Amino acid sequence: MSNSKMSSWSKPRVAIGGIWHETNTFAADHTGYEEFASYQLARDRELISKYRSTNTELGGMIQALDQLDFEPVPTLFAAAVPSGLIEHQCFCQLVDELIERIQAALPLQGIALALHGAAVADGFYDADAHVLERVREVVGNDVPVVSTFDYHANLSARMVENASILIGYDTYPHTDMAARGAEAIKLLEQLISGEIRFHSAFRKLPLLTSPLKQQTDELPMSQVMQELRHCESNPDIACASVAMGFPYSDVAHLGASVVAYGYDSEQVNTAADSIAAHIWNSRHDFQEHTVSAEEGIRQAVDSPDFPVIIVEAADNIGGGSAGDGTGVLRELLKVKAARSVIVVYDPEAVELAEKAGAGAKLSIPIGGKSDKHHGEPVNATVAVKSVSDGEFVHKGSYMTGYITSMGRTSLVESDGVQIVLTSKRTMPFDAEQLRCLGIEPDQQKIIVVKAAIAWKAAYGDIAKRVLVVDTPGVCAADLSRLNYRKRPIPLYPLEQDTHDSFQENP
Ligand SMILES: [Zn+2]
Repeated sequence: MSNSKMSSWSKPRVAIGGIWHETNTFAADHTGYEEFASYQLARDRELISKYRSTNTELGGMIQALDQLDFEPVPTLFAAAVPSGLIEHQCFCQLVDELIERIQAALPLQGIALALHGAAVADGFYDADAHVLERVREVVGNDVPVVSTFDYHANLSARMVENASILIGYDTYPHTDMAARGAEAIKLLEQLISGEIRFHSAFRKLPLLTSPLKQQTDELPMSQVMQELRHCESNPDIACASVAMGFPYSDVAHLGASVVAYGYDSEQVNTAADSIAAHIWNSRHDFQEHTVSAEEGIRQAVDSPDFPVIIVEAADNIGGGSAGDGTGVLRELLKVKAARSVIVVYDPEAVELAEKAGAGAKLSIPIGGKSDKHHGEPVNATVAVKSVSDGEFVHKGSYMTGYITSMGRTSLVESDGVQIVLTSKRTMPFDAEQLRCLGIEPDQQKIIVVKAAIAWKAAYGDIAKRVLVVDTPGVCAADLSRLNYRKRPIPLYPLEQDTHDSFQENP
């Protein structure tokens, strides 16, 4: 190794860690330390033991560092389920902890972080850029800093300036976290060796798209990803990524972007322009067809083939929503939709059902309690079918083997409508969520999912029809329903007269 700074160390030492959050600024509840502690929070050595051999960014980083015989120096990693604005105090504490650990570990030859790219904290509207800036301040400009980011990142120029390399997931639903973490380390190694430097190109598009049309193996994104892979096959390009943005973060750097790195400035710029043009040219194809909740339930009830999946995207739990929206529930009860099932987050209703006990009948208000965006509570007379601890083991393709707890859970029924009441917000990514309660998914006429795309890991194989309903909410499919204050203008499709070429925009 040519780098003189490494002489006193037998192995290059690379700090790993990060702060990961997809922040829905429209959600009523704020995100505090407890939300990180109850999801993912690991420090020092525990970080290595917890993430080694997992399909996570850190898992991939650790494996790649092992292979290079570099020393991983664990710091802090904190992640919370997508939710509302991160509290100021909580964010400051997490960043300080991360920085203190990096400082204590100096000298380091490199830093590898796992960030989301759509984190927003009270007082830090570009929270990810703030983390990178703080790290830069500590290590200076000579130590390379690489970071991974989520496909839904709202990348900013400030993030790009403060990182040596930013590298994002290439998949949605996300399955390549470990692969991107490992790739970040391989690029970091080139920088540590000191023999090359990367040129970067960053393109921000005035474009906002709903997650519903961002699946990477379907049009329009499949052809964008094909162009991305084509660009990466050029030996002068080190890596290129797209970030489609998270539309539920109301920030000045909202929107889709492309970032590319390589050994030749001109080629890097050409690649970034070409990928950005592919996205921009398909901007008209990102609109998802939706129906009203009333129309969706009517079509589902009339459908000869089942199950019909009703996608209640506005209440997408994985996008930071509460999971207690009543727009679809109300319609199911109104038409007495037989063999329908919906999961609703409502700890109060669980408690009432549990007190009454299995076999009891009672009238209770259900859902609509977390905020004012997802409808009023619905009063229903229900029969309590079962009460349980709500634990299930993932048997599908998402986090296989992982144990999820829905918290205390009650299955109640009203005129054929089965309502699963949970005490924890639980993303519908595995069919065991229903099977553990004795509900066989393929025997249902209607399954309601509070999700955008990732529900396909649970019910994609058995779905005979899929209907996306347009209801109000903090993850509304129709982005014009959201009351933005800070976003840039123009953004297609909110402004239809956006210029034909994104490059004409600043
Ligand atoms: Zn994502």
